[in-house]
Amino acid sequence: MQNEPLVTFNGVIKKFGGFVAVQKLDLEIHKGEFLAIMGSSGCGKTTTLRMLAGLDAPTEGEIRLSGKPINDLPTWQRDTPMVWQSLALFPFLNVIENVEFALKMRGVGAKERRSRAENWLERMQISEFATRNIAQLSGGQRQRVALARSLVVEPEILLLDEPLSALDANLKVRMQSVLQGLQQELGITFVYVTHSQSEAFSMADRVVIMSKGVVEQVGTAQEIYRAPKTRFVAEFLGSSNIFSGKCDGNGNLETAVGKLHLPKAGTTQRKGQSATIVILDTRAHLSVTQPKGDVDFVRANVIGEEFTGATATIYLEAEDGSELRVQKDHETLAALPINVGQSLYVSWQPNETHLIPDV
Ligand code: ATP
Repeated sequence: MQNEPLVTFNGVIKKFGGFVAVQKLDLEIHKGEFLAIMGSSGCGKTTTLRMLAGLDAPTEGEIRLSGKPINDLPTWQRDTPMVWQSLALFPFLNVIENVEFALKMRGVGAKERRSRAENWLERMQISEFATRNIAQLSGGQRQRVALARSLVVEPEILLLDEPLSALDANLKVRMQSVLQGLQQELGITFVYVTHSQSEAFSMADRVVIMSKGVVEQVGTAQEIYRAPKTRFVAEFLGSSNIFSGKCDGNGNLETAVGKLHLPKAGTTQRKGQSATIVILDTRAHLSVTQPKGDVDFVRANVIGEEFTGATATIYLEAEDGSELRVQKDHETLAALPINVGQSLYVSWQPNETHLIPDV
């Protein structure tokens, strides 16, 4: 059947003793997609990946691969190789022997093994290191060996657990494009666990955001960034101003920083209903004088500034302690008195906010 998911998690629960690490996971992973799983430490990302690899068994629920239940299938029969941050290359084998290893385990003959491994070393641009010991390689070279070793068996799906986290920033970016290029070229499904928003958002077709064993949102980077489904997601992304309160039944939200307009789509919220509005830091403005016209604003004091290349983010605190953030280019900021303790107005167009209704 076309569009049948390659992987299905169906009501999957994983408990360690009394502790629930993954709670009732329902997730479909499509053939050929690059799916990133993101979330804070301990949220269940690795456990989810390990269940797919067969390294942990679900306590309840079912995992299907190509339509077939795999709960009871041992790891070595699954064809779901995994690449870790720690890589787990065999130190007693040289580079090409490491790459050949999985083929040997599958009974592939010596000649074919060698030629397939050579092909992958070439592809990963590490042919010159074929006979080197693993200890004599740099972090980036090891990473390429680990990828070659997993891909040489031509799996349908590759599981990657924080594979780039040990690399320095430049190498990370280079390896990101290697990974993305490989995934597109080979059409293999990648499931990629990471802490890093920039890795997930720059490479993945879809991103899964988990918190405390629960999937909070699944979507494209754009969808999640522009329209977080829960307050947790908005906070986790860390690029928004977030205000919660109760709707007054007249299109406003009563919050700790005052009455704010609900976006038009949210004006039907019932009086007394809880809701949250989110304004991206790139959509908010700063001024010394009180903004005029049909805008919402909050008065707040500057508490800090962070440079991020072409722009900077100004952090402010409102009277009630709410934190606000505004991202602007340096030219705009140069015209403003950005000093710690300076009182400014943070404003935005009400129709540029995003509403999260309480569910
Ligand atoms: P990190 O980003 O820190 O690697 P994670 O999201 O990958 O975190 P998991 O490794 O999936 O988190 O762990 C989820 C939870 O399950 C954690 O609280 C962890 O302590 C717990 N856990 C994982 N493996 C075991 C185990 N074998 N026994 C007991 N608890 C475990």
